[in-house]
Amino acid sequence: MSYSMNAHAARLEDGIVRGVALEGNVPWGALERSRYEQTAVIELGVVPGGYGWVFPKHDHANLGVGGWGAEGPRLRMHLGRLARAHGVDPDALTDVKGHRLPMRRLGAAARSGRVLLVGDAAGLVDPLSGDGIYEAFTSAKLAAEAILADATESYEGRLAAALDHHAAASWAAKRAMDRSAGACFWAARSPGVFPVVAGLLCGDVSHPNEARGVARPPLRLLARLAS
Ligand SMILES: Cc1cc2nc3c(=O)[nH]c(=O)nc-3n(C[C@H](O)[C@H](O)[C@H](O)COP(=O)(O)OP(=O)(O)OC[C@H]3O[C@@H](n4cnc5c(N)ncnc54)[C@H](O)[C@@H]3O)c2cc1C
Repeated sequence: MSYSMNAHAARLEDGIVRGVALEGNVPWGALERSRYEQTAVIELGVVPGGYGWVFPKHDHANLGVGGWGAEGPRLRMHLGRLARAHGVDPDALTDVKGHRLPMRRLGAAARSGRVLLVGDAAGLVDPLSGDGIYEAFTSAKLAAEAILADATESYEGRLAAALDHHAAASWAAKRAMDRSAGACFWAARSPGVFPVVAGLLCGDVSHPNEARGVARPPLRLLARLAS
């Protein structure tokens, strides 16, 4: 449910950072279908604190941009730039909609007495990807379990155990991208780095320090950018 109303009502807004996004649709025809229908395009480093995307849908494509809340006044310009870069007239976009992306700082409260916040209301959108569906389901399950066990005070600890490891990596990657998207691209494309990043995402690698060999120098650069 709407994060602003619920977090505000429970006085749990502190620690939630607000991102913004703007998206719209174009029918196939406005965009070269054969080039885009099997590909999810993500443009990093073009919107501060976020990215642009072109996603194929059933009978249309969805174009969007998202970033730090401060980018709000420039989102329409970013969306127009993205559209033109992909050969789409920005005026051809329909159903243009704005969104807020609530992102929780690590350690921010998600409970006030017997009130437990889940999903977007708790600000669980991933700061790097903008995804929040996994986090919404996970938090809802943990909240339901805590309520059924009459142990609502256990919720925040279990939420942190389930999500903070990944969220910490996402905040770090977001800081690094904000400081130098170019250096991140270089590091991410260096030999040996991608398997480490994939391992981190899958939970098989717990920290980039576990990397050995050629992947170490670029990962050290990423760690410095993220600090
Ligand atoms: C453009 C965009 C693209 C995204 N793409 C992805 C993606 O690809 N993958 C991903 O994982 N996440 C994505 N997300 C994030 C994801 O959509 C959310 O994090 C997720 O939906 C949060 O789930 P939720 O149940 O907390 O909130 P919501 O999905 O917002 O559900 C809240 C529901 O509560 C209803 N509601 C609100 N107020 C009331 C009321 N007073 N009474 C009754 N009902 C009410 C709303 O109508 C809504 O149905 C995207 C977000 C945006 C904005």
